[in-house]
Amino acid sequence: YVAKNKSTGIQVYNAALDSSSPETLSMLSELRNAVENNELRVYLQPKLHIASGTVSSAEALVRWQHPVRGLVPPMQFIPFAEQTGYIRQMTLWMFEEVARNMQLLNSAGGPLCVSVNLSTRDLLDQDFPDKLEDLMRKHGVATDSFCLEITESAIMDDPDRAEATLNRLSQRGFKLSIDDFGTGYSSLAYLKRLPVNELKIDKSFVMGMDGDESDSLIVKSTIELAHNLGKTVVAEGVENQVITDKLRALSCDEAQGYHLSRPLPLEQFTAWRLKFSETAAAQTATTFQI
Ligand code: C2E
Ligand code: MG
Ligand code: MG
Ligand code: MG
Repeated sequence: YVAKNKSTGIQVYNAALDSSSPETLSMLSELRNAVENNELRVYLQPKLHIASGTVSSAEALVRWQHPVRGLVPPMQFIPFAEQTGYIRQMTLWMFEEVARNMQLLNSAGGPLCVSVNLSTRDLLDQDFPDKLEDLMRKHGVATDSFCLEITESAIMDDPDRAEATLNRLSQRGFKLSIDDFGTGYSSLAYLKRLPVNELKIDKSFVMGMDGDESDSLIVKSTIELAHNLGKTVVAEGVENQVITDKLRALSCDEAQGYHLSRPLPLEQFTAWRLKFSETAAAQTATTFQI
């Protein structure tokens, strides 16, 4: 399987998508029934608001609970889902599952804003903003309870269509975030134009902060860039207290990573957050340590 990026013309060979292998063929046919067979799961990973020491947002991450293979991580099946277009059904399922549980999620520690990852396929679907708004109306959930994460590469695949979709989503009240910021081919001209609320610094830079001086400088500059453009900024891949403290010193808004919590099944997340908010309430924001 050879994918060609429209804007760069660069061909990327992805061995996992060799459609002649029996492994790939069986994966493709099983994936087609994953939603109907109730095999997909939403995991939630909390994000720490660094200055206040509170958790009011989380990222939704898909898992496939396969009857034989066990819990399959997204990188092992998202490329297939994108190739077949099935990803669009999966994306809508993720939104519906979170929206359906929004009351429960809000009941444990206050209103929660949930980020969901979009794929290029969603951005190229002209009807996507309307479908999403219908889902929100059906479940009585405000559109600004959701943040949509998009990678730079997904935008640059077809920048004009992506821009049109993002404008429509923003007009309907959804928040928008650029995921894995700094790793794709994006242009600052688009960053200026697009109605994006948040930049999410890729974990490769964040994880390098305790050793590599240039990673720290990239993180520092990205935080300044985001703030100068009036956007908030999240660091992903925060694995220890030292990096959390460095991010606080750099005025980074939010931290997400294994140090705070791994992604958790939805019910476990609610229990975790309830306990966290009770503990956090007993401490002051300044002395707060995770
Ligand atoms: P992402 O959106 O950048 O998500 C962050 C990934 O980093 C997640 O991996 C998360 O578990 C992992 N992570 C979080 N904290 C840490 C940390 O402290 N250290 C390290 N090393 N990793 C950390 P996951 O869940 O395996 O997802 C991988 C990617 O798969 C996601 O990257 C996203 O691009 C994609 N993905 C996941 N769920 C969905 C989905 O529902 N739809 C779409 N389109 N893509 C998804
Ligand atoms: Mg993400
Ligand atoms: Mg990311
Ligand atoms: Mg990533």
